[in-house]
Order: sequence, then structure tokens, then C-alpha cells
Amino acid sequence: MTADCLFCKISAGEIPAEKLYEDDEMLAFRDIAPQAPVHFLVIPKKHIQDPANVGEEDEALIGRMMRIGSLVAKENGITDFRLIYNNGLEAGQTVFHIHMHVLGGRSLTWPPG
Ligand code: AMP
Repeated sequence: MTADCLFCKISAGEIPAEKLYEDDEMLAFRDIAPQAPVHFLVIPKKHIQDPANVGEEDEALIGRMMRIGSLVAKENGITDFRLIYNNGLEAGQTVFHIHMHVLGGRSLTWPPG
């Protein structure tokens, strides 16, 4: 747990979130400002700042995020979805605890803006 990290506080239960999945090392919860009919975030409970700071020891954990995100997407009725990691301010990252966006339930355009 890192002090003053919003997603550490959500994973510790100090700030409420609409949880869709939780286990010892991972959490999925709905995005507070959804950009699609289904939009949730998958985070590891371990504080990792961003994709650029994923260590070799985190490879299995980060791989699980994709598997859990896909399972939760299916549970929420979507088979087609987009997975996004923003890394750094210019890429649109606003919360500096690694998270995978899962968006679906509507047609998504490419490339993103
Ligand atoms: P990013 O811009 O990639 O860092 O994504 C951060 C995401 O966290 C944004 O889509 C926000 O809407 C979302 N967010 C911020 N605060 C909360 C919160 N308290 N609960 C759920 N989602 C949040």
C-alpha cells in the first residue's frame, strides 16, 4: 500500500468502489466515469506505478490481469472489448497505479484520439 494512492485505497477498502471481482492479488471495479456501456478497471493490489515499471517478478501477475479482465467482461455480457493501459501523462494516465481499462458494449473506433 502506497500512501495517497487512490487505487491502493480502493483495494484496501478505504474508498468505496463497485467491485466486480476480487481475489488476494487483484481487483476489478467499475470506472467512475464510464466511456462505454461496460467500462471497468482491473488492478493488481500490489502498487506498481505504470506499465513501464512492471518488473520481471510481476510478469505472471500482469498476465493474470488479461485473463481476469476477459472473464469479468464475459460475466458482464460482452464478448468484444478493448483493453487499454495508459502509461504517462501524455498518454492520458491520471492515476499512477497500474490499471487495465476494459471497455465494451458499443462500437469502438480506431485509432483512439
Ligand atoms: P487513466 O486515465 O488511464 O489513469 O484512468 C484512470 C481511470 O480511473 C479514469 O477512467 C477514471 O474515471 C477512473 N477513476 C478515477 N477515480 C475513480 C474512482 N474513485 N473509482 C473508479 N474509477 C475511478
